[in-house]
Amino acid sequence: MARRPLIAGNWKMNGLKADGVALAKGVAAKIAEGAPACDLLVCPPATLVDAVAQAVAGSALAVGGQDCHAKVSGAHTGDVSATALKDLGASYVIVGHSERRADHGESDAQVNAKAVAAHAAGLVAIICIGETEKERDAGLTIKVVGEQFLGSLPKGATAANTVIAYEPVWAIGTGRTPSTADVAEVHGAIRSLAKDTCGAEFAAGVKILYGGSMKPSNAKELLALEDVDGGLIGGASLKVEDFWAIAQSCP
Ligand code: PEP
Repeated sequence: MARRPLIAGNWKMNGLKADGVALAKGVAAKIAEGAPACDLLVCPPATLVDAVAQAVAGSALAVGGQDCHAKVSGAHTGDVSATALKDLGASYVIVGHSERRADHGESDAQVNAKAVAAHAAGLVAIICIGETEKERDAGLTIKVVGEQFLGSLPKGATAANTVIAYEPVWAIGTGRTPSTADVAEVHGAIRSLAKDTCGAEFAAGVKILYGGSMKPSNAKELLALEDVDGGLIGGASLKVEDFWAIAQSCP
């Protein structure tokens, strides 16, 4: 099954309204001129989802959240529901990013519940998994990533409502990346586990993104790998030219 690549920008906690709107409009304008071989998505901080979604409404640029609560509403001060993101014009939400897992102690079970909420709200859940450097050095990468995949993926996941992002924690924001052979090995293992646990149709269709210091200079070789179906981009998604150069690196 042909999987159209997805290039997704995770802006993290960066940008005020004017910068975010300008960045998103810049990306949308590139898509309109350039007919890329991939879908493009930006995930601004929750404070900017509304303004960014309004600024790019009608364009081919999708908008997503960076996290959502597992509940639709209630006494959860400071949290944002998947339904509220959908209401603002989001179509995706990232769940289980390593910064959420580390800074907020999110477990696989919580990530799983967030993905369920995302699906219920009609959002595509981008479920992040990845090993720490200590786990890689101990030879535990495939085991850790496999356990996170199994624990974080909800029962109702389909290739249409779920994207997996493999993000080695030690590669995020560090300028370091695994070798292409290592990325290929982990992505192959995830797809094979997806086949064993969710069936051939899910495994053939589900997009598995690579994330961790992807930039214009290394995107082409990473995106050329058979089981890499796009990228989740942090730092390099904050500049139109860099983000666009990565999108143009899709095979
Ligand atoms: C990320 O935050 O998901 C990420 C991959 O960041 P960076 O591209 O900056 O490593």
